[in-house]
Amino acid sequence: MSRPHTDQPSGTTGTVARPLTDRFGRVHTDLRLSLTDRCNLRCTYCMPAEGLDWLPKNELLSDDEIVRLVAIATGRLGIREVRLTGGEPLVRRGLPALVARIAALDPAPELSITTNGIGLARCAEALREAGLRRVNVSLDTLRPERFAAITRRDRLSDVLAGLAAARSAGLAPVKVNAVPVRGVNDDEIADLTAFAVEHGYRMRFIESMPLDAQGAWEREKMVPAAEILERIGERFELVPVPREDNAPAEEWRIAGTDSVVGVIASVTRPFCGNCDRVRLTADGQLRNCLFATKESDLRSLLRDGSDDDALEAAWRSCIAGKGPGHTINSADFRQPDRPMSAIGG
Ligand code: SF4
Repeated sequence: MSRPHTDQPSGTTGTVARPLTDRFGRVHTDLRLSLTDRCNLRCTYCMPAEGLDWLPKNELLSDDEIVRLVAIATGRLGIREVRLTGGEPLVRRGLPALVARIAALDPAPELSITTNGIGLARCAEALREAGLRRVNVSLDTLRPERFAAITRRDRLSDVLAGLAAARSAGLAPVKVNAVPVRGVNDDEIADLTAFAVEHGYRMRFIESMPLDAQGAWEREKMVPAAEILERIGERFELVPVPREDNAPAEEWRIAGTDSVVGVIASVTRPFCGNCDRVRLTADGQLRNCLFATKESDLRSLLRDGSDDDALEAAWRSCIAGKGPGHTINSADFRQPDRPMSAIGG
């Protein structure tokens, strides 16, 4: 049966959510929703200086299409958390209105965003009022010249203002994500931690992964979790925090403070066995893994008049085909064609 798509989400009508389970028994409750592949920075580890060929506008999902898919995800598939990503999600026009529509769904997901922080000073309050709950801000350095060298834009002060605005707006906890790269910013691991402690942010270090558009990732430049902890430990005493189910970050409390620092060891201690994530790209392609080489085309279904049953079935079939995890550490690893900026983190 096929019925035309309307502006009203219908994913919740009379249907009880059945968990989105894969063949390994992993239940998927976390949707990473990319809102655009565009970005206002040009980080050297992410994309070339001239940017990339952005997706054409007509290939991007509209707000109505996004709301319909999220309604299916929360109403029929048991998705409980939605993290908005990019590119840079704050560059999407009308973001607070879209957040408000997602937050008004029944059941509504817990809504968070991962951003580079530029423009957050302007919209943190509006996003909080619209229903956003938490924010992760990417920040790899506290030195203005280094920030400009890494991102090819002189915008550190905007990011710091965005962080402060997020905290004032009550988007708690405000998390700061840094990717240490050897010879680039690995000498700032303790400084970034101290900065987060001082301002009441939650610092998280993430091992760098081979998802850059240039295919230039080098394992030798990745700073492994063990070394990150060693660097933090040179300045702070760390007390382990029990790990939450499915949480990718291992966390430590900084002794004598309320601050918590996390390390995401995606490469050296993969957590794929507990993966609960599914990703939807800005052009409506469903990915069952960050490193998936195949995608499921939900946009075509949305636009050919398919009903919610068909969309739900496509979603379940995508998850049914999910592999056990990434193969970064094996010889036959193949980087996906789609770069991180067009997947969302
Ligand atoms: S690499 Fe794939 S399977 Fe592993 S945690 Fe990431 S998304 Fe999940």
